[in-house]
Amino acid sequence: MGAVVDTLRLTAEEAKALLERGELSGAELREAYFEAIAERDGELHCFLRTVAEPDGEGVPIALKDVISTKGVETTAGSKILAGYVPPFDSTVAARVKAAGLPLLGKTNTDEFAMGSSTENSAWGPSRNPWDPNRVPGGSGGGSSAAVTAGMTPWALGSDTGGSIKQPSALCGNVGLRPTYGTVSRYGVVAFASSLDQVGPVAKTVRDAALLYSIIAGRDPCDSTTVELPEPVRLPEGDSLAGVRVGVPTELNEAEGIEPGVKEAVEQAIALAQGLGAEVGECSLPRAVRYGMPCYYLIAPAEASSNLARYDGVRYGPRVDGSSYQEMVDRTRDEGFGDEPKRRIMLGTYALSAGYYDAFYGQAQKVRTLLIQEHRDAFERFDLLVCPTSPTVAFRIGERAADPLAMYLSDVLTIPSCLAGLPGLSIPCGLSQGLPVGLQLIGPQFGENTLFRVGHALEHAIGFDTVPERWR
Ligand code: GLN
Repeated sequence: MGAVVDTLRLTAEEAKALLERGELSGAELREAYFEAIAERDGELHCFLRTVAEPDGEGVPIALKDVISTKGVETTAGSKILAGYVPPFDSTVAARVKAAGLPLLGKTNTDEFAMGSSTENSAWGPSRNPWDPNRVPGGSGGGSSAAVTAGMTPWALGSDTGGSIKQPSALCGNVGLRPTYGTVSRYGVVAFASSLDQVGPVAKTVRDAALLYSIIAGRDPCDSTTVELPEPVRLPEGDSLAGVRVGVPTELNEAEGIEPGVKEAVEQAIALAQGLGAEVGECSLPRAVRYGMPCYYLIAPAEASSNLARYDGVRYGPRVDGSSYQEMVDRTRDEGFGDEPKRRIMLGTYALSAGYYDAFYGQAQKVRTLLIQEHRDAFERFDLLVCPTSPTVAFRIGERAADPLAMYLSDVLTIPSCLAGLPGLSIPCGLSQGLPVGLQLIGPQFGENTLFRVGHALEHAIGFDTVPERWR
């Protein structure tokens, strides 16, 4: 007998309804996902580990492996955390547990969430369900590919400069990077603390909104969090009457945007207009030019500080040496892969005496300008739209040897992340047979607007989230 439900198509909302009506038991539902994992994860490698007997009778979930889970190994995709079993739950893991969602397993990620393809995972890459020779994006490629492949109805990722939005674009699903400060980072392996945010990956905008409502809100364990100014509204309806949509020229005309991506995004914008939205052009003059350099100073600077704690004493494996310093050096040399080492070097350099003002200090000033130019745009518009990723999914290995080419994958997601703003990626069509992501950027706490517009557009676009080879 095959799976009781078609996990490739079932949304979390539909799964919830089946459970509530008693048409399916929690155990049957979990079994269906474990069957899907057994069937497809050998090829796609989304899961670093699964949980044999998860607790909870609700809709199952998968969590990116940067999210600490009590009693379940958490490695952040790094050898330096191999065997680390957190003695506590992160707040987001505790919240999904309290909501009764059983944990199917932990998903693959670039090491310490550094990357755009999941190829930097110490445990080997994940693959794109649409074409296994291509990357699923990153760093949250495991969570995103798992959702598209029907191995989990929804998942959590983390996004520092695009790690939820970009994989969602490349795998053809919905990903939300929430407003900075709305979701707790307590117990989430830190990459760049002024940027890191946890958020949902799902098949539909409504599912993403539902999961966001479970994880969002003030947490006394993370002093950067706030209570949401208004409750999450599950979107319904198709009208966009009165919604002002801004199209930032620089983010839509940037060099490197593939013609097929541009075309799909333009069609989605035309659909928004058809649904009653007022569409107008605007400008974010510094976003594309300065976003990347600013991010690649601030994020590595914070990372170099956050990664100092992996010293062979506090967590994970240790490589012995004849002195304390030699032990630390050897542990870090063996434990970290190339990308974290690259970021630590960039970051310590940017923070070093004599260079601090010229690099880190300057980047912080540019960040303020980016915040201001977004704020100016939101005086005229309710949301901004552009492609999520300049390209569709690229081939495994294609950008691995060229860090700069890899970094450019996030040129369109990074500016709003630096500004602390929410961004939603929804699939808006195919180019070369691969999904294209539409990025909707909102003002601070503008998630409800993103959900409303994303939901209406999702209906109008009618994208089939099941990869063609499985239809
Ligand atoms: N690709 C970006 C980086 O490597 C963003 C990663 C992320 O959002 N975690 O820094």
